[in-house]
Amino acid sequence: MIKLVNQKTILEGVKRLNKEYPHAKYYLNWSNPLELLVAAMLSPQVRDEVVNACTPKLFAKYKTAKDYAEADLKEFIEIIKPISFPAMKAARIQKACKILVEKYGGKVPDTMEELIKIPGIGRKTAGTILINAFDKVENIPCDTHAIRVSFRLGWTRGKTGDEVEKDLMKLIPKEYWKKLPYQLKAHGRAICKAPIPYCSKCFLNDICPKNGVTKKY
Ligand code: SF4
Repeated sequence: MIKLVNQKTILEGVKRLNKEYPHAKYYLNWSNPLELLVAAMLSPQVRDEVVNACTPKLFAKYKTAKDYAEADLKEFIEIIKPISFPAMKAARIQKACKILVEKYGGKVPDTMEELIKIPGIGRKTAGTILINAFDKVENIPCDTHAIRVSFRLGWTRGKTGDEVEKDLMKLIPKEYWKKLPYQLKAHGRAICKAPIPYCSKCFLNDICPKNGVTKKY
């Protein structure tokens, strides 16, 4: 049975995460909003290190949305070949960049409303772009680590990023939204690991119902 904890316990967990991972930040490399959009669209179902290994070459070759819109897909795919689903991701990025060129003068828009209208960009990617490129905090973009850790901690029954985001936004004060996704991710990578969590080493052990955990260290 899934056990949800109360809001006071959630806030205690958020504060502990904040203390443990004060410098947690977005993990992919980028230097402008377009690079961030491209990196974020490349990132699903692949390790961040793999994306970061491919993007220097990609960003050196394609510098504007027009460059991606007019890219030879074969060449594009060749550069991002180590990344999962390269053909699908290249096609999606190209389609998104065509829209940037046609509707936004080649610029990445800076509102949630506009970003989620671009095919291939959901609330997670849009929120990530807004927080990091524009310093606008409109949601809590939850990746697979944030979803898993929040669920185990009893902060949500949600299983998708959008469901978890909605629950967390209701329960957690906005001042914590900006860093929380990256702190949850850091915890998911270091301790609350996907197959078997290290509960005995975890600073949240006493306030965690460990939902869905069948085996732990
Ligand atoms: S106590 Fe275990 S399940 Fe709960 S957050 Fe820590 S590592 Fe994850």
